[in-house]
Amino acid sequence: MSTFSLDPGPDQTAVRDWLHGFAADVIRPAAAEWDEREETPWPIIQEAAKLGIYSLDFYAQQFFDPSGVGIPIAMEELFWGDAGIGLAITGTTLAAVAVLANGTDEQIGTWAPQMFGTPEDVKVAAFCSSEPDAGSDVSALRTRAVYDQAKDEWVLNGTKTWATNGGIAHVHVVVATVDPELGSRGQASFVVPPGTEGLSQGQKFKKHGIRASHTAEVVLDGVRVPGHCLLGGKEKLDARLARAREGTKGGGKNAAMATFEASRPAVGAQAIGIARAAYEVALDYARTRVQFGKPIIENQGVAFQLADMKTRIDAARLLVWRASWMAVNNRPFTSAEGSMSKLYAGETARFVTAQAMQILGGNGFTREYPVERMHRDSAIYTVFEGTSEIQRLVIARAISGAPIR
Ligand SMILES: Cc1cc2nc3c(=O)[nH]c(=O)nc-3n(C[C@H](O)[C@H](O)[C@H](O)COP(=O)(O)OP(=O)(O)OC[C@H]3O[C@@H](n4cnc5c(N)ncnc54)[C@H](O)[C@@H]3O)c2cc1C
Repeated sequence: MSTFSLDPGPDQTAVRDWLHGFAADVIRPAAAEWDEREETPWPIIQEAAKLGIYSLDFYAQQFFDPSGVGIPIAMEELFWGDAGIGLAITGTTLAAVAVLANGTDEQIGTWAPQMFGTPEDVKVAAFCSSEPDAGSDVSALRTRAVYDQAKDEWVLNGTKTWATNGGIAHVHVVVATVDPELGSRGQASFVVPPGTEGLSQGQKFKKHGIRASHTAEVVLDGVRVPGHCLLGGKEKLDARLARAREGTKGGGKNAAMATFEASRPAVGAQAIGIARAAYEVALDYARTRVQFGKPIIENQGVAFQLADMKTRIDAARLLVWRASWMAVNNRPFTSAEGSMSKLYAGETARFVTAQAMQILGGNGFTREYPVERMHRDSAIYTVFEGTSEIQRLVIARAISGAPIR
């Protein structure tokens, strides 16, 4: 008997239906308002926390779901509701994953719950890696971390940019360079605990899309954190730096790449949620809008657009599910399958939302209908978590082994 199946099981179906209800009843009706306000939708995060949708437990359960599709299903449904609010609800997981991937058990136990707070007092967290001169080129980070041995403290100085939840977060995770000569192999991640002096928010960005999600600069001016805030601990860092200085191939870079491959499908799933939402609006509109005496869907030109939209959405979902399944089952990403899924899903969201606007004609161009917002929201999916060009670079290197630049 074959054990292969693409059917989500009863657990995954139950989570999907539960989140779909929340997305339809709570997120979607609020989407236009928070997009206009360009503010973090705290009441909605709180509502999600009360229901158990915004909590460490919930994400841990989905993350460790043995089917591998727990996280993609959850992301798709929330972002089907609205991408800006979806990111406001899930942005904390970026920082949580950084702690899960690099922290000791004790660090995970200390910091991960604090990132979410409690339903009565919700908190968010931020992951701060990008800098004005280090976006795609993460090895160019300038933020410095210097160890003060006498006090067993790390001193952080630098400016981070584009940080989701930057400055409003309870806990910030900051990537900094300990030894600039070693490029990305000389970097480490630090937790900046709540209320630490010297950390402040710089400018908050006014954005094209996902406007309910807060994005800002984070300034680190002589920020002192205790030694135990270095994720993974000093012994591990020293051993890694020593290997890098000797020029020995350590596991460091490969481990970081494996983490990206495992996290990118989740971002792809967010893009699929936006694409599916826009497709559904367009399909409905095409069935009901009458021109030249018949519904516009009866024109092959319109119907074929919808056929392509649906096909690309389903193809993107299969790539995302495959990569998530590979991550849970520890399969090696020999062709950068995680990057493939994010690349295709991101491009699909842009394609589908643009087609949806076209099918809605003049209405597609107005804020009376949600597809123009979905189109704006989709644009970030070919940029963050690695631009489409960077995904292609990673895939091309993985399949060829060539040092492609
Ligand atoms: C809304 C938003 C939220 C974000 N959230 C976070 C966050 O929470 N934490 C965080 O650390 N960062 C975050 N980012 C940053 C995001 O990851 C970066 O914007 C992204 O990595 C691209 O970096 P960049 O903007 O500096 O573009 P650049 O790296 O300057 O790229 C500019 C263009 O050049 C292309 N390019 C660059 N190098 C190559 C190459 N080698 N080959 C081909 N093309 C290339 C790029 O693909 C792109 O088209 C966020 C950004 C945005 C806009």
